[in-house]
Amino acid sequence: MIPLADARRAVLERCSPLPAVTVDVADAVGCVLASAAEAAGDVPPFANSSMDGYALRAADVAAAPVALSVVGRVLAGSTPTVAVGPGEAARIMTGAPVPAGADAVCMVERTHPSDVPGGEGVVIESAVAVGENVRPAGDDVRAGEHVLDAGSTVGPAQLGALVSAGCRSVVVHRRPRVGVLSTGDELVPAGAARTGAAVYDSNGPMLRALVAEAGATAVDLGTVPDDAAAIAGRVTGALGAVDVLVLSGGVSVGDVDLVKGVLQSLDPSGFRWMQVAVRPAKPFCFARLSGADGPVPAFGLPGNPVSSAVSFELFVRPALLALSGHRATERPRLWARAGDVLRRQPDGRLHLMRVRLERTGGAGPTDGDGWGAGPTAGDGWVARPCPGQGSHQIRSLALADGLAFLPDGDSLPAGSAVEVMVTNPAVLAGGR
Ligand code: AMP
Ligand code: MG
Repeated sequence: MIPLADARRAVLERCSPLPAVTVDVADAVGCVLASAAEAAGDVPPFANSSMDGYALRAADVAAAPVALSVVGRVLAGSTPTVAVGPGEAARIMTGAPVPAGADAVCMVERTHPSDVPGGEGVVIESAVAVGENVRPAGDDVRAGEHVLDAGSTVGPAQLGALVSAGCRSVVVHRRPRVGVLSTGDELVPAGAARTGAAVYDSNGPMLRALVAEAGATAVDLGTVPDDAAAIAGRVTGALGAVDVLVLSGGVSVGDVDLVKGVLQSLDPSGFRWMQVAVRPAKPFCFARLSGADGPVPAFGLPGNPVSSAVSFELFVRPALLALSGHRATERPRLWARAGDVLRRQPDGRLHLMRVRLERTGGAGPTDGDGWGAGPTAGDGWVARPCPGQGSHQIRSLALADGLAFLPDGDSLPAGSAVEVMVTNPAVLAGGR
């Protein structure tokens, strides 16, 4: 058996970021910038008011209260047609360009209307400083400046920043297209009629969902029987359209575990079949095939549903994130107290036990909505084993928030400290 760290190194050192492509900003969400994004223009693009009020000359109101005559009105989106001279003010709304001559804005709450001979007037009740309530052009980002550096992940806020800076397209690492193929004579597609010794192909939908969760694009390659020529045909047929292949089933030592041989025949020098020192997910294989757009890492995951998911977590997910250009490729981990005995026996393997996580410790003072609840003394996590740790027991995976790392050896008594890889991000956000 090969230690998990060695197995992961052998795979991940062969997965580098996919080539850069230029995409519309709206399509970049979830992608990693391969080059810095430069602002096409200043943000804000022009000096504008941060308040509804009056644009004026600060020097005129140093001895407030002072009455000024109102010479015009500027709305957001309108171009000022008046300039503000001495003793004058312009009514202005939030976001409207500050008219020429004005150097400050007094908020409307500090004013009241006044009569001035021959027109509209306003009394400015208190002095304002030069620049007060004015957002200068380029106050947020200057034209040509990096809105985001290479390596940044584009999320909602980053998209907003890019759009406001006039960036129409960005250069990102290509989002991996991941072909998912389930192998096994016994498989019927989800939703089809199941009879006799058939089982539903649950790995296909599950792995495609895991691919999507990792920000990549899943390509459904369906199911294929345990037939080397059929498997090889499906694999080579997909090589023109995918960046990564994920196969499940057929990588162990059964008579019809044919995925190993197929991948080996397609990558005789680089192919690796490994018995990884973990439980579940011991059998695993990896190859690098020649695709239309470059090398295609191909992962052979065990067929047992929990093993498939765990193998995906250990190998495929970090690889997909690396291919996408992410520097952080690992799930979050935390230390928890075992809420119960975590049972295992020495077998030379690291056990990845499905656990449910619960937060301990009282919440801090909150308002009625629970906002403001910060960590308090004793705040931490308790990990409880999910019932049913067999590698076929997918429901217990569905109940789990994470995988507890149980190093080789005996059971860990209740109360032991245990490290948990959190696979359910919702639990960290305080919900399930
Ligand atoms: P294998 O790794 O091909 O030996 O399969 C191990 C176990 O996983 C067997 O019980 C298979 O029926 C089951 N299995 C394999 N592939 C799938 C799949 N796509 N969906 C659900 N179960 C599967
Ligand atoms: Mg099989």
